[in-house]
Amino acid sequence: MLGILHRIVHEVNAAPDLRKALDLIVHKVKQAIGTDVCSVYLTDFDAREHVLQATLGLSPGAAGRVRIPMHQGLVGLVCERAEPINVEDAPSHPRYLTISGIEEERYHGFLGVPIIQNRQVLGVLVVQQRAPRQYEDEEVAFLFTLAAQLAGAITHAKANGELASYQGREDAPIHFLRGGSGVAGVALGVVVVSYPPADLEAVPDRQAKDPNQEEQAFRAAVAAVTQDLKALEARIGDNLPAEDRALFDAWILMLGSDSLVNRGIECIREGNWAAGALRQSVEEHARMFDDMDDAYMRERASDIRDLGRRILMYLQSDVPRVLEYPANTILVGEDVSAVQLAEVPKEKLAGVVSATGSASSHVAILARAMNIPAVMGVADLPVARMEGQDVIVDGYRGRVYVAPTSSVRAEYQRLADEDRELSAELEALRSLPAETTDGVRMPLYLNTGLVSQMSDLGGEAEAGVGLYRTELPFMVRDRFPSEMEQIANYRRVISAFAPRPVVLRTLDIGGDKPLPYFPVNEPNPFLGWRGIRISLDHPEIFLTQVRAMLRAAIGFDNLRIMLPMISSVEEVDDAVALIRRAHEELREEGHEVGMPQIGVMIEVPSAVYQVDALARRVDFLSVGSNDLTQYLLAVDRNNAKVADLYDDMHPAVLRALVQIVEGARTHGRPVGVCGELAGNPAAAVLLLGMGMDSLSMSAGALPRVKGVLRRISRRQAEALLEQALGYDNAAAVRRLMHEALEGMGLGGLVRPGK
Ligand code: PEP
Ligand code: MG
Repeated sequence: MLGILHRIVHEVNAAPDLRKALDLIVHKVKQAIGTDVCSVYLTDFDAREHVLQATLGLSPGAAGRVRIPMHQGLVGLVCERAEPINVEDAPSHPRYLTISGIEEERYHGFLGVPIIQNRQVLGVLVVQQRAPRQYEDEEVAFLFTLAAQLAGAITHAKANGELASYQGREDAPIHFLRGGSGVAGVALGVVVVSYPPADLEAVPDRQAKDPNQEEQAFRAAVAAVTQDLKALEARIGDNLPAEDRALFDAWILMLGSDSLVNRGIECIREGNWAAGALRQSVEEHARMFDDMDDAYMRERASDIRDLGRRILMYLQSDVPRVLEYPANTILVGEDVSAVQLAEVPKEKLAGVVSATGSASSHVAILARAMNIPAVMGVADLPVARMEGQDVIVDGYRGRVYVAPTSSVRAEYQRLADEDRELSAELEALRSLPAETTDGVRMPLYLNTGLVSQMSDLGGEAEAGVGLYRTELPFMVRDRFPSEMEQIANYRRVISAFAPRPVVLRTLDIGGDKPLPYFPVNEPNPFLGWRGIRISLDHPEIFLTQVRAMLRAAIGFDNLRIMLPMISSVEEVDDAVALIRRAHEELREEGHEVGMPQIGVMIEVPSAVYQVDALARRVDFLSVGSNDLTQYLLAVDRNNAKVADLYDDMHPAVLRALVQIVEGARTHGRPVGVCGELAGNPAAAVLLLGMGMDSLSMSAGALPRVKGVLRRISRRQAEALLEQALGYDNAAAVRRLMHEALEGMGLGGLVRPGK
């Protein structure tokens, strides 16, 4: 049974449209269960009817014609109860309904199971038998399991088919595909589907005729791609802040990394031809990253695969394809890579839609740096049918409208125009401080690091760097970076921002994002060996990093060191002792290092309850609201299945934040927020009301946060906070804040339009 089940689900997933998918289901199920009839009803929520969509056994013309009113008949009962109904003799059941057109009365045995996705019953899978039949437990379980797996495939097939049938129809219902908000903003344009230049996975292993020649070809292809990337970097360099170009350096580093290239050469020497060796090496490396729980670390896998495809193109001596990009290009793909995005001329790129990825994917981060609206993780995206389509990208709400009607288009055109006006107005605030109407200044810092999000490095607006994630130089090598290598890295950011403060966070790797050369395999990685725990268990790694930080700051006085994942005071004491030791040793060695300010991240519930004890030990506190939300709510921040439960404006999170500010106050320590919450204009008001001393966010979020802070007083923010704390659910808090922003004429900061 299990084998049959897998096969059916697989075939349904591959079906090109809903009709074929449903026909397949009824055929396969009828056969597997050995029954007279198998049918699928799907619920038409607008018409409030269950529509017979496919059947094998009932009269063939009935599909599409027979409609059962909601809440009627046995089918209606299955939907209401959202559980299987198994009756031996249907006509004697009180809810039995004679349905004209399908000679229902000829059937006695009835089993219906609900097809459910995201708590909603989408339809019913029904089997019927002419004679009375009580379906066996095992058969019920089979249909039940199948239906649970079919929901996704059905939604996907539906999106595919609907798309085709709606094209150009003015009477089409307003239909959109749902994804996650990647980059806020609205874009209208024409789709260019970006697809991988070469299919690396399809490359077979093949015996190399001349290994030397293969090795030469391999090295030449790697060199050619490195050249291409350098040229691309130079070309788009003008459009990107200097630090964002670090992304290209990371790719170029990966190509230069011994592990990727040497492993390929090794495979050639073992007998494989260059293309096969490339596939092998790329797959091995990419898989390591695939297994990581952390979303932005997983992105490394797509980067590696993308680089692999580019190398393959040269090996196959294809000329890299040059696409024609229309004005207002919306780049769409299964897994849009940051390189693909960078290839579109900036003046032509209007939006990005990717079937995979999230707001923390590279491509989203790059799009944000370029201010391009993006929708990520659109699971039902029918990529193959989208080339040349007119689409609207609503990056605020994570929606993609395909072939919109003229009225929807007109409405969005208006919103996009207003958005542009608003951005221009916010741009005018660039050199002004984030000062409230009653004169409270809120320093706004930048988050940067893994892929830098620094805007104009010379901009006076930003108070400094509030969070520099130091994982990147560790990720792109095949060994720990040396002290000198780290110094070069840290000095770049320290010198760029001096005299403004730069907060370097010590290494935050762990079970969920192990380094390729430092494997950590754990059943429960988010609760495992992570962040400061690894640093303290490996003082040699920690000391090298701290030494590099201190030395990088020689001649400047703006370094601050921040410790991640602190869950007890001993960790702080031990880490501070090591930092002091590094400081003393460096002084003894003759380096003129200063002692930096030290801070801890508050991102674990125990740290919230001990915030005063922690505050006493350090110079500043910074709330990592991304992890704090994950740990307070027990919701994995990277898991799409529970994404609806992850809400950083949850009342529990707000109360924790209030408590953190109080704890910091008792010892007079400054406290800020550096998680995504700080970059949300609605939340920023609440954080102001709490008395947070600073906010740190990505460059793209900064203008909107400044826009709201300059229009509100601390007193108003405090009143809103008081109201928000009276609510017991996140939706009410969001509603309150959105209404408040609308009331102040600032709704445009959190939704499309002005
Ligand atoms: C956080 O947890 O909020 C944070 C800023 O750190 P990271 O997102 O790197 O875990
Ligand atoms: Mg964190």
